[in-house]
Amino acid sequence: MTKQIAAIRGMNDIYGQQAMAFQKVLQAAEQTLHQYGYQPIRLPLVEKTELFARSIGEVTDIVEKEMYTFADRNGDSLSLRPEGTAGCVRAMIENGLTHNQIQKLYYSGPMFRHERPQKGRYRQFHQLGVEVFGLNGPDIDVELIALSARLWEQLGLNGLELQINSLGSQQARTAYREDLVAYLQSRIDELDEDSLRRLNTNPLRVLDTKNPAMQDVVANAPKLMDALDVESKQHFEQLCAQLDDLGLDYVINPNLVRGLDYYNRSVFEWVTKDLGAQGTVCAGGRYDGLVEQIGGKPTPAVGFALGIERLMALIIDQQSPEDSIPADIYVVLAGDQAARPGLVLAEMLRDALPSLSVQMNCGGGSFKSQLKKADKSGATYAVILGDNEVSQQVAMIKPLREQSEQQSLAWDELVAFFSQRM
Ligand code: ATP
Ligand code: MG
Repeated sequence: MTKQIAAIRGMNDIYGQQAMAFQKVLQAAEQTLHQYGYQPIRLPLVEKTELFARSIGEVTDIVEKEMYTFADRNGDSLSLRPEGTAGCVRAMIENGLTHNQIQKLYYSGPMFRHERPQKGRYRQFHQLGVEVFGLNGPDIDVELIALSARLWEQLGLNGLELQINSLGSQQARTAYREDLVAYLQSRIDELDEDSLRRLNTNPLRVLDTKNPAMQDVVANAPKLMDALDVESKQHFEQLCAQLDDLGLDYVINPNLVRGLDYYNRSVFEWVTKDLGAQGTVCAGGRYDGLVEQIGGKPTPAVGFALGIERLMALIIDQQSPEDSIPADIYVVLAGDQAARPGLVLAEMLRDALPSLSVQMNCGGGSFKSQLKKADKSGATYAVILGDNEVSQQVAMIKPLREQSEQQSLAWDELVAFFSQRM
């Protein structure tokens, strides 16, 4: 036998129940986003490396050690996108889309980060991202949170906690950074390797550590919330008040800092305890400085991204979804004369009943084995076509889920029969 070729570590095939749950997230998200008037945008998977370095930040984990970066045939340094915001902002600027207009956008697709693969953490993973340009908030920040809360409800997910914080303005953060570094230096013997590295490059990220041994250091650190500038403080108070108006519960987590440099003011995460260490299913916040930072006119912006694999795992845990699409009607073909008219009949039913799944037995098989497949398909009815039925232009309808008699109906009566019952 020829040697098999395996997939790349951390890049998974998604099939069966997982694929069904994945699709469920996308469909529910599209419906919810439509309710709020958000528009789709499609963006490239590959961008110039410089775009990510300048937006995400040179000294973030992503840019320092997680990007898939390569030289293309012209020698330009390109990277597979590790997240979607940078590319979206680039597209806004390049196409003049923030000029005197508000944009409410969403996209979804694969992202790439060379992280250590583990449950809920992969090298190719999928995000659905939502971005709004041109609004200062906090009303729009609240809209994004309400929209995500509605999505969890739509998906029937329980146990998600909303955590919020404010990172303040750039200036407030610079002042705070000095206090934080002084504090961390006073406990330098307790810092782990990652935190020591971050101490000089990106000290706020120390607060985001996932290391349980660091929890006491983090818990007693000075709080960014106490160092906020006046405007950010007001923004945050209004955000909280508006969340209260909508009855949306939240927990203020002063150590929520986010892993990317570009955030300011409101940041939020939706977190579950059901997925182990990788409990954040959705994360976002305001990034008012980013458009200008990558060459556009100053434009306020806010957005979030949700991790589809983590939501998919939650759906499977909480709901055990189907692993295939259940049929409503299954067409059984008995006898040699039925195959070709069977195709025509199935297409006719699909034309007339577009909301039903009409699955046809392809590939032959005995009558008995076809009926078995019909039963397994989950169909409510089998439509049986044998040589006799074909010659008389009728079909046999066999109820599969209840004890009632089968009956013979003319082809032109079938649509009325099914539309009354399904
Ligand atoms: P984490 O703290 O879990 O590493 P992050 O802060 O790096 O997350 P973001 O860049 O904000 O995450 O991405 C938004 C969401 O995308 C995360 O909350 C998570 O649900 C998902 N996500 C991020 N990285 C991965 C990954 N490597 N594999 C699967 N999902 C991921
Ligand atoms: Mg990360």
